[in-house]
Amino acid sequence: MNIDAFGRKINYLRISVTDRCNLRCVYCMPEEGIKLFPHSEILTYEEIIKIVKASRKIGIDKIRITGGEPLIRKNLPYLIEKINEIVGIKDLAITTNGILLWKLLPQLKKAGLKRVNISLDSLKKDRFYKITKQDALDDVIKSIEKCLEESIMPIKINTVVIKGINHDEIIDFAKITQNKPIIVRFIEYMPWGNLNRWDKERIINANEIKSIIEKEFGKIIPVSTSSTGPAVNYHINGFKGYIGFITPLSEHFCGNCNRIRLTADGKLRLCLFSQNEIDIKTKIRSGASIEELSQFIIDAIYKKPEKIDITGHLKDHKREMSQIGG
Ligand code: SAM
Repeated sequence: MNIDAFGRKINYLRISVTDRCNLRCVYCMPEEGIKLFPHSEILTYEEIIKIVKASRKIGIDKIRITGGEPLIRKNLPYLIEKINEIVGIKDLAITTNGILLWKLLPQLKKAGLKRVNISLDSLKKDRFYKITKQDALDDVIKSIEKCLEESIMPIKINTVVIKGINHDEIIDFAKITQNKPIIVRFIEYMPWGNLNRWDKERIINANEIKSIIEKEFGKIIPVSTSSTGPAVNYHINGFKGYIGFITPLSEHFCGNCNRIRLTADGKLRLCLFSQNEIDIKTKIRSGASIEELSQFIIDAIYKKPEKIDITGHLKDHKREMSQIGG
């Protein structure tokens, strides 16, 4: 039912709940922001819940909430609670910059949140500010501590490695895994958007990152049991946590892709990199039943592309990452 035209089983829906963000990461959003979707164009929680119910019926059992920054949308624990109540949803996670997480975590956990990915590109206060335009590193660290306290497991930290911006912190990030059960995942800097100053020269691929780590800590060992999507996890000898690499550039993972995306303004995206979008908002606002929505999603899944070449700069992209849901 949820098999695409290339035989891949699609069981993972990433939902962006907002295009707004409280950070202005240099590689993601200009300081003055970008043109935002009008509120009327953003799916309501009830609409999102209906889409999740329809998705569940065709085999989706893994949901991730993202944005923009998902925690700036009002009353997010309500959405988490309602999704968690849908029978058969096995995994319910969030991707966040972590600034508001320490405050909201108890409510989110009570509502049924299972896992958290926190994006963090620098452990230095001044650099964090330079990258994000917010003096908020302490809040993010507090959130990581809070996740450990609340035993939200596994905690993943996602770090985009960019030459000349934060590549000299690779070892410091790897060291986070020494005494804490945290997975630090290094992400290759992807060519994205009209607005960011993407520069090929700034890419550091996963192999380079790996050799920097191995030079410091010795050979790292792949963890065969990892079921963490596109990242391959490794273990530094004697360390409690893991490190991982997300390699959209150096190693395509399209063949194993199990995901589709829902944008905050109600478009299904079958692939992060494909421009092809399917308007489910019009369908839902025209009164479609859950069964009709399920069929709509099945038809959409069938249009998922086999793979997209992202080796060039995707500068003609209609949307920034924050408008899709990274
Ligand atoms: N606000 C949330 C957060 O910070 O995790 C969710 C949205 S954010 C767009 C999701 C992820 O996309 C972040 O980890 C961010 O670093 C990553 N990202 C944005 N632009 C990117 C790029 N050009 N290459 C690689 N990762 C990127």
